[in-house]
Amino acid sequence: MSALPFRFFALRVLRTARIGPTFVRVTFGGTEPTLLVSGGRDQRFKLFLPQRDQDAPVMPDPSDPDWFAAWRALDPAVRGIMRTYTVRELRAAGDATAELDVDFALHGDLGPASSWAQTARPGDRVTILGPVEEDNGGVDFRPPPGTDSIVLTADATALPAVEGILARLSPELPAKVWIEIPHADDRRELPSRADTVVTWLIGDDAPPVLEAVRAAELPGSTPYAWIAGESGTVKALRRHLVSERGINRRAITFTGYWKRGSSEDDLIAEGSA
Ligand SMILES: Cc1cc2nc3c(=O)[nH]c(=O)nc-3n(C[C@H](O)[C@H](O)[C@H](O)COP(=O)(O)OP(=O)(O)OC[C@H]3O[C@@H](n4cnc5c(N)ncnc54)[C@H](O)[C@@H]3O)c2cc1C
Repeated sequence: MSALPFRFFALRVLRTARIGPTFVRVTFGGTEPTLLVSGGRDQRFKLFLPQRDQDAPVMPDPSDPDWFAAWRALDPAVRGIMRTYTVRELRAAGDATAELDVDFALHGDLGPASSWAQTARPGDRVTILGPVEEDNGGVDFRPPPGTDSIVLTADATALPAVEGILARLSPELPAKVWIEIPHADDRRELPSRADTVVTWLIGDDAPPVLEAVRAAELPGSTPYAWIAGESGTVKALRRHLVSERGINRRAITFTGYWKRGSSEDDLIAEGSA
């Protein structure tokens, strides 16, 4: 058993499925995912993709404890392209037949990950830096003690995380959820044992999520808010919840999943990813 909470895994695409106008679900497997586990909820991991002219991502020595410095020292035009994604589902964990589902929100050919997902084929090779312990630092959804209700806001990139959160939510925590998606057919069932009210904000005609939340009554008296999506939107929502709703800062988890006008490489370079 590894003492580290994360490890590199070389995986292959097993199959892909278009699960909505905006989403491709890519299912990964391979010879070595036996140790891969997930803490569920918004479990994130690092995905490394090959450059266009490569069969597999070029990676630093996986046993190097400072792999990040080693990865950064590689030529950006050659090294694996690093992006952040969410474990949508992990099946048969601990077994050589383990399968990992990742839902990619497509945004055209602008980004290498979106572009890769649109054309991924069985056999395509990637590397992931994934968790090997259930309780790991890649899970951010952690309501503090005293929480009596949940507020979730997300865009398409954070919908997989919302699904993971709702699937594990305690029945004692009623939740209000706002999700921005480009198309009505991107909606899906969001099973939960908790009492949930989900508002889908569809396409350009829907009110911005900030406006929708501002107009709403929040659940409970000590809610925990988890906010993810485009960075500017996330900041504005957090400001609203702290300044106008009086929610304790410690009861808000906010994560920019992407930033308009910046690639994840730009964010890594400026130290904010
Ligand atoms: C913790 C975490 C978990 C995440 N989980 C998921 C997940 O499960 N599924 C998922 O689809 N995404 C997820 N994301 C978001 C994903 O990492 C980013 O969207 C990433 O930028 C995509 O990489 P790219 O190579 O396609 O685009 P990049 O090369 O990073 O960006 C290229 C350009 O596209 C823009 N851009 C990036 N994403 C979008 C978008 N969604 N819509 C419109 N423009 C965009 C950027 O602003 C930039 O201008 C997650 C992010 C984080 C931080």
